[in-house]
Amino acid sequence: MSAATDSTTFKSSWVEGLVSSYSRLVAPVPDAHGVLSARSPEQGRVSVVIGGGCGHYPAFAGLVGPGLADAAVVGEVFTSPSAEQVYRTARAVDGGAGVLFSFGNYAGDVMHFGLAARRLAAEGVDSRTVLVTDDVASGSAQEIEARRGVAGGFFVFKIAAAAAARGYDLDGVARVAARANAMTRTFGAAFDGCTLPGQQEPLFTVPEGTMELGLGIHGEAGLRRVPAQDPAGLADVLVDTLLPELPAGATGRTAVLLNGLGQTPYEDLFICYGRVHRRLADAGLTPHRPEVGEFVTSLDMAGLSLSLLVLDDELADLYDEPCQTPAFTSAPAAADAVPEPRRAPRPGAAAGTAPRTADTPAAGGGAAAEALAAALAAVEAHEQELGRLDAVAGDGDHGQGIVRGLRAAVAAARGADPGDTADATGRALLLAGTALADAAGGASGALYGLLLTEIGGGLLEAGPVPVTAELLAPAVDAAFHAVCELGGGAVGEKTMLDALAPFRDTLLTHARAGTPLAAAWADAAAAATSAARATADMPAKRGRAARLGERGQGHADPGATSLALMATAVAGVLDGRSPTPADPVPESR
Ligand code: ADP
Ligand code: MG
Repeated sequence: MSAATDSTTFKSSWVEGLVSSYSRLVAPVPDAHGVLSARSPEQGRVSVVIGGGCGHYPAFAGLVGPGLADAAVVGEVFTSPSAEQVYRTARAVDGGAGVLFSFGNYAGDVMHFGLAARRLAAEGVDSRTVLVTDDVASGSAQEIEARRGVAGGFFVFKIAAAAAARGYDLDGVARVAARANAMTRTFGAAFDGCTLPGQQEPLFTVPEGTMELGLGIHGEAGLRRVPAQDPAGLADVLVDTLLPELPAGATGRTAVLLNGLGQTPYEDLFICYGRVHRRLADAGLTPHRPEVGEFVTSLDMAGLSLSLLVLDDELADLYDEPCQTPAFTSAPAAADAVPEPRRAPRPGAAAGTAPRTADTPAAGGGAAAEALAAALAAVEAHEQELGRLDAVAGDGDHGQGIVRGLRAAVAAARGADPGDTADATGRALLLAGTALADAAGGASGALYGLLLTEIGGGLLEAGPVPVTAELLAPAVDAAFHAVCELGGGAVGEKTMLDALAPFRDTLLTHARAGTPLAAAWADAAAAATSAARATADMPAKRGRAARLGERGQGHADPGATSLALMATAVAGVLDGRSPTPADPVPESR
């Protein structure tokens, strides 16, 4: 949330944007802070009105449209809408068959919706209210009705609206909505708090390396703080908490909602869901139309929640009802009949061999494999630091990318014929370079991949002779030119070229002097290391980094740093000693 956001106009501004972008589905309530379905009211049909404070999009206004809510009343951030707003919104969508109100169990909402219901009754408009109480963290199982409503409200709204669409009367809609709520349980975790519009500080923070279990959706901290888990580990915590909470005798089909709270990557949600799916299956539950995404957020909170709705036949049938809203569309049931996915053969299964990965290296590959393995160990030890350097001006992925690439390179080199001659080393480097570029991706993946294949190509031509500085230096020189050409870069632009150039120069000098390879390489690696350090004082001239101007200064270039690390590690191998070089990673100033 940007502190520049104007809190006084926040609500009206975003609602205006919502109704103008999705005018095919929703319209503003003419005289209230509310959003109504473009198809409502429908005469003779029950209307479903949801709502609450804003800051939770898609709840509630994003869940309005044909097949889902008829209208949503929009309060200020995390604040109940007023009775007047609820009343006006309900009047706007009433089709004469009554109004079903559903919203989270919070005192302000209960009071304002309650007042509106009384006023409507006095005017002859019938209404029922179903409170959402799905959050297991907010009260004991003995007093379920005291619990607050969180992401599971989506199930309740969806089922109520489906019943209304099918022509259930008001009591019928209220009955299935209440049943959906009674069968729904939610538990969540927060990794970081959220910041109100116009504020500088988050409502709460979660210390690095920890997470809060059992959070609320209004910046309430959780039940307890535990060490942070990866998304799959978190799946176990959520499932283990919810299973004993499920309504008694629960077996069979279960609607599942894995909800992101606003700042959690969808990829993490899917990783978590994959584990949830297996765990539910192990517990004898069949996920029915699982949904993974954002349904009830808390502004920019980082975290997620898991909601389970134990279905009976009627609830399952209603849950399948198609709908279309700005945030959520559910296709007709016919679209469910997708063919069983074909199972891909397991890699290596046909040949009866395990696939070769960096974790299961084959022996062999000779000097090239040994050198690359040492380079890998060096960048692995500095993966975080390389990522941090890349994050100064880039996207922070350099450490991960180069480690991934070198793992593949080592595996590929180990698969080559063993041997320390120039041609054997060349062949291994050709394989390694191709594998590195494929696995690492990114600019550095392409450039390092090319560097290896070019050196490999140069050595291969030399045939079955020992690798010497005289042989290697021209191959490195050619590789340097190829990397310049591919990247369109030049020395002095704060890239890996600034480390590669002095490395190449030193090697060429020693080659001319007839220095033995190990000594020549060690000197070249030292030159690369001091040049990499010196990139800290250079202004960036390429890409995004260049636009940062001075900001990047004081930090070494990640590519130059990784190149120096690798060269130093290889020097250790060539010297025939275990690599204990001086740490060439420059301190960030
Ligand atoms: P990406 O930029 O695709 O995220 P990485 O983060 O893995 O790739 O690598 C960034 C490094 O790649 C930079 O620090 C720089 O040394 C190097 N690099 C990027 N572009 C070029 C280029 N055109 N020429 C030379 N080196 C480059
Ligand atoms: Mg990067």
